[in-house]
Amino acid sequence: MGEASQHLKGLDYSVVQQCMHCGLCLPTCPTYEATKVERHSPRGRISLMRAFADGRLEMSKTFAEEMYYCLGCLACMTACPAGVNYAELFEHARAEAEASGVLKSPSRTFVRAFAIHWLFMDLNRLQLVGRALRLYQTLGFQGLLRGSGILKLLPRRLQELEAITPDIQPEFSADLIPPVLQPQCQRRYRVALLTGCAQDLIFSDVNRDTAEVLVRNGCEVITPPEQFCCGSLHAHNGEWELAQRLARQQIDQFPPEEFDAIITNAGGCGSHLKHYRSLLAHDVKYRERARIWDQKVKDIHEWLATIGITPPNAQLPKQVVTYHESCHLAHGQKITAAPRQLLCSIPGLRLIELPESKWCCGSAGIYNLIQPAMANALLDRKLNHIKGTGAEVVATGNPGCLLQLINGAKARGIQLRVVHPVTLLAEAYRTECRSPNAESCTRNAPSSILHSEF
Ligand code: SF4
Ligand code: SF4
Repeated sequence: MGEASQHLKGLDYSVVQQCMHCGLCLPTCPTYEATKVERHSPRGRISLMRAFADGRLEMSKTFAEEMYYCLGCLACMTACPAGVNYAELFEHARAEAEASGVLKSPSRTFVRAFAIHWLFMDLNRLQLVGRALRLYQTLGFQGLLRGSGILKLLPRRLQELEAITPDIQPEFSADLIPPVLQPQCQRRYRVALLTGCAQDLIFSDVNRDTAEVLVRNGCEVITPPEQFCCGSLHAHNGEWELAQRLARQQIDQFPPEEFDAIITNAGGCGSHLKHYRSLLAHDVKYRERARIWDQKVKDIHEWLATIGITPPNAQLPKQVVTYHESCHLAHGQKITAAPRQLLCSIPGLRLIELPESKWCCGSAGIYNLIQPAMANALLDRKLNHIKGTGAEVVATGNPGCLLQLINGAKARGIQLRVVHPVTLLAEAYRTECRSPNAESCTRNAPSSILHSEF
């Protein structure tokens, strides 16, 4: 079967045949829970993958569509007693599907060539598109088009996509964060900060908050102004070689030997970034560095829990917060306690547990763009739970979840602040600096990132 068969067939067979069909993962799978169809379950999908790897099943459109109906939320991995590496299977299955071309159509080929092969391979291009979008939004064209009703002439799918276009930040991370930030107190660690791709356009403020929090906790922070996409978009969408290329670029830009940690604040990216070793397993030049890289990559919550959070001395206005868990933070990286610890360290916040906090919100990378019906059903479920807590703020550690919840709350007229946990901590530190007892914290605060808010 040539190139198209190498991903699943080339995998260590112990990975492919590890599922013992117990079905314990089924109740945790959102697509199975919604449909009760075996082939929409982890067990069903793994059976399809194994049949293909064994040569009992030809690649087909049905197989490929099934792999794209999966959210990639990895809840099944948390539930699985046999330790099935569904993440690896799923990425290889999608790569098989792409290599076979069974899903090819002119529009799909165009969108993938533009977004995956061109836009997200060079962040200068992405920023250029982001700046154009920002002009469209700030010069009033977006409001004009929406008000005129002209958008109603577009196909329904395009109308839906236009409605969830994110607001582009006025400044990107390179405008907000100096390349080198030194703590004014004693330097305890030297870390690199990954500012991401879409994150940089839509949530550069979260990157700034992350840098501030790191410096406040004794880290020297290195943030190169020009960065690369981590490649998770590519790996999750079957573009294995592009994902490998981006992984090599990351390792070259952030030599892992030079840092105590390489920090990401995006749960989805972190889950991918910690697996460069398997992505580059056959690359003699990079595989050893990829092993060190995997050990050094830390999610911001995880890192702060490791080094110990310096508690803010002042309190935020009293507020009730609930926490939605990003799938790739909770299931992909098994980080569940650290974000709660961070939130509980902030005076003034009361944390209320969210029912089904680990259930996917429907964002799942670009899933909400390609499977809107399932994504919206999951979003409704999530927002209903959030409303039920009575919280005025929901915190979550992944840009896709942030955007999904912001758009969902807006579209449904729900008053809700959606925020990254690290932003709340940064706000508490800023409050501290404005308080009458600010002497100690201003001494420790990083002068180079002290904007007018301080
Ligand atoms: S990744 Fe999520 S949607 Fe896919 S099979 Fe596992 S639980 Fe189901
Ligand atoms: S829980 Fe694990 S072993 Fe059991 S069916 Fe699901 S994937 Fe297979």
